[in-house]
Amino acid sequence: MSANLFEAIESRITCKDAPFLETMGGDKYSYGDMLVLSAKYANALISLGIKTGDRVAVQANKSPETLFLYLACLRAGAVYLPLNTGYTMDEVAYFLGDAEPVLVICRPQVKDEFKALAARLGGMKVQTMNGADGLPALAEKSEASFKTVPRKADDLAAILYTSGTTGRSKGAMLTHENLTSNAKILRDYWQFTSDDILLHGLPIYHTHGLFVATNTVLLSGSSLLFMTKFDAAALCGLLPRATVMMGVPTHYHRLLALKEFKADMARNMRLFISGSAPLSSETHKEFSARTGHAILERYGMTETNMNTSNPYDGPRRAGTVGPPLPGVELRIAALKTGRLLPQGEIGVIEVRGPNVFKGYWRMPEKTAAEFRPDGFFITGDLGYIDDQGYIHISGRDKDLIITGGLNVYPAEIEAAIDALPQVSESAVIGLPHADYGEGVTAIVALNPGKVIDERAIRDVLAKKLAAFKVPKRIITVDGLPRNAMGKIQKKALREQYKNLFNKA
Ligand code: AMP
Repeated sequence: MSANLFEAIESRITCKDAPFLETMGGDKYSYGDMLVLSAKYANALISLGIKTGDRVAVQANKSPETLFLYLACLRAGAVYLPLNTGYTMDEVAYFLGDAEPVLVICRPQVKDEFKALAARLGGMKVQTMNGADGLPALAEKSEASFKTVPRKADDLAAILYTSGTTGRSKGAMLTHENLTSNAKILRDYWQFTSDDILLHGLPIYHTHGLFVATNTVLLSGSSLLFMTKFDAAALCGLLPRATVMMGVPTHYHRLLALKEFKADMARNMRLFISGSAPLSSETHKEFSARTGHAILERYGMTETNMNTSNPYDGPRRAGTVGPPLPGVELRIAALKTGRLLPQGEIGVIEVRGPNVFKGYWRMPEKTAAEFRPDGFFITGDLGYIDDQGYIHISGRDKDLIITGGLNVYPAEIEAAIDALPQVSESAVIGLPHADYGEGVTAIVALNPGKVIDERAIRDVLAKKLAAFKVPKRIITVDGLPRNAMGKIQKKALREQYKNLFNKA
């Protein structure tokens, strides 16, 4: 039996007139339109020579057409390879050289650069996502029906390059089963029905906006209110029409920063979901006080899809990412030895299940190094399981600070700093220190109009934390550097302040 994700999607469609997607400009697409347009794009891909298993790399703006192209790749049995629109040509050159796609789809303004790159790398065709000679024009002229190509459970559906906040990006190979099983679990766990309308303000080159949001909608027959880019004020206008929102913590901060954001706007909402970066307890509580909704925080990553989620019906606890999802096995091990740790101890989070990817593209050694012999994937996230089975995330292994031989988990210090009313957010990092090896350092952004000096923050922390955990330096800044998914760029901060303790 074929395991193509698109066949699972097709099998759920009971009414072709049911709404699938509406843009902010009022363009509407039904499930019937989705079937026709994805078929046209699939036929266009075939006419360009795409065969089963070929990679199709796409660096395109967020649009309904880009989504239909993703679905067309599934239908044609191709491997979809989305690229962040923020990547420079140098970065793109690395991805294309590594993945060797047969076809590359880009924005018209960079077509010449892509053509030059393709000529240098050899063998790949270039098409644009707009323009008279672009892919949409070719799709428009193509047949409106297409027989979805059968795929096996462990055939690749997509390769997503990891966001690379630490080290070099690796291509995570995701199978049809990885994506289908996770979307079904999320649909059931979060109780999606065909009546739901998901407010979609996420990018679609990343697992969150592409798989978590879109696949869950498609496998529940619900619909998308599709914002081509996140804008808090515009989102307020759309909110009364939505029932579910998925966002990164930055989205929730930005909503809360708007005076006009009122509880009444969420009158039809049943669920706000957050993920991709830690949601602070303060944001969780403030959102709940303002709207009456407890944000549901979940945890996942490109390689594993979603691993844990706070419950839909049970308590959604601020500062935790909830228990493992059904079918996902999760355990905590000592970082260096892999020894399993008792409940309550901090170690590296390891997961196993149908959600976990097949490996890194053309990196068998890297893949082998990140799996235990019994098949558990070593996530690199540090955390612990509390006495109620909820997972708490304490940081990434690369963020772990070792100062004077003692381990400091940034999340604990950040939570203590963020609890100060003057503070908007913070990032705790370790910097080279001649005496301690690493010196604990906090980079802190204050709320508008607030002041608090380094000494005052240290005094508060010294009452709550062991002395070795109290930052040796606290630097106030206007804002912290983040990527599009709301992840703080600690690597950039470590680079910027590398000579803070040891003068160059
Ligand atoms: P990505 O592959 O870009 O989705 O990044 C995955 C990483 O984001 C994970 O390994 C975690 O470090 C982080 N992450 C995702 N969700 C959460 C969350 N709810 N809380 C804390 N960190 C998270």
